[in-house]
Amino acid sequence: MLDENSIRSFREKHLSPSLSLSYVEPLHIIRGGGQYLYEANGKQYLDAVNNIQHVGHCHPKVVEAAHRQYKRLNTNTRYLDESIVNYAKALTDKLPPGLDVCFFTNSGSEANDLALRIARHFTQSKETIVLDGAYHGNLSSLIEISPYKHGGPGGEGAPNFVNTISMPDSYRGKYRGEKSTIGYVQEVVEAIEKIHQKNKRVSAFITEALMGCGGQLVLPEGFLKQSFELVRNAGGLCISDEVQIGFGRMGNHFWGFQTEDVIPDIVTMGKSMGNGHPLSAVVTTKKIADNFNNGMEYFNSFGGNPVSCAVGQTVLDVIEEENLQNNALDVGTYLLDQLKVLKSKHEIIGDVQGRGLFIGVELIRDLESLTPATEEANTIVNQMKDSGILISSDGPDHNVLKIKPPIIFTRENADTLVVNLAAIINELSKD
Ligand code: PMP
Repeated sequence: MLDENSIRSFREKHLSPSLSLSYVEPLHIIRGGGQYLYEANGKQYLDAVNNIQHVGHCHPKVVEAAHRQYKRLNTNTRYLDESIVNYAKALTDKLPPGLDVCFFTNSGSEANDLALRIARHFTQSKETIVLDGAYHGNLSSLIEISPYKHGGPGGEGAPNFVNTISMPDSYRGKYRGEKSTIGYVQEVVEAIEKIHQKNKRVSAFITEALMGCGGQLVLPEGFLKQSFELVRNAGGLCISDEVQIGFGRMGNHFWGFQTEDVIPDIVTMGKSMGNGHPLSAVVTTKKIADNFNNGMEYFNSFGGNPVSCAVGQTVLDVIEEENLQNNALDVGTYLLDQLKVLKSKHEIIGDVQGRGLFIGVELIRDLESLTPATEEANTIVNQMKDSGILISSDGPDHNVLKIKPPIIFTRENADTLVVNLAAIINELSKD
């Protein structure tokens, strides 16, 4: 087995330098199980950040399903196959009526790229509305519509068909407080007007119902509902990016968009969908899917292969059998409450928000200017790791602690997280 130093030097030589490693002292994880990861030296870590391993690392039923199907057959969508139609049926049964037609893909990025293509074809326009701070994927088409990337280091800004709304953050954003919705919705109105002034049509509004890379941000009440209405009235399509938040994580609902009481025209999903197996999808209405069927075949070598479908089906089954959506609600609410108690004791915690097991703890330097406590967030993330708990930080200022564990997380795990976080913040405030 290679030691850590050899792995590092091989990485430096043979892997792209654009890849990053987490933590000041990177981890060498060799095994996972449930909500735990294990280092080569046997040290156990509580994984409170990996929302891809949705039903737990190496879930035996998921592993077994992949193994079983791999041994039997793995082909592509050009053959009649029962696993893909059964899975498409099970998946669309989880969505509101009308969202009936699936395209299977292999990553969140592929799903979002396809969603944009579908919307652009339907509307015959490229004019896309996005939220500032949003991330939708690593393909060229998605860097273009992801302010998180094109507005950050190495980014080249937005192309002129991208219309960006200020990040709808009612705590530290451009418009604040209970009435902030009005300001952000007005920006959507203006974006649509601007598109019309160019003699163009609105193509799509793509958004998460709760922003992930934007900093675990719950949108101001009513913002999404009003924005969807405006976009639809202008002939545009609404795309809900559920890559981070779907599949029961929200607790009270299976999908993020349901928490905002909206129904999108196109839903994209990934990450948790295959519990680590590369599996993603675009789901839309029959009308939109038929419109896309313009003579050009859509073929995807791996998308919708029988192994992926067996994995996806098993993830859905496990969520159901183990009552995991309910667990996300129970443990998520409990954790959110505990973190709010912590906030009442420590000024560095400016805000705690989230839904289910998707939570952000926003750190600030002072209550007046709300200066982001970026360095402190980084220190806390690293010290939590030293204490055996994995979280990360995000948001435009990287001052939001990101908590999004596998949804098998228990109340006891939540206690462990909060007790350790409290101890680290206590020490930090003594400095
Ligand atoms: N959409 C969102 C909201 C994401 O957070 C991500 C990945 N972090 C993606 C899309 C892209 O997914 P992938 O990395 O699987 O391409």
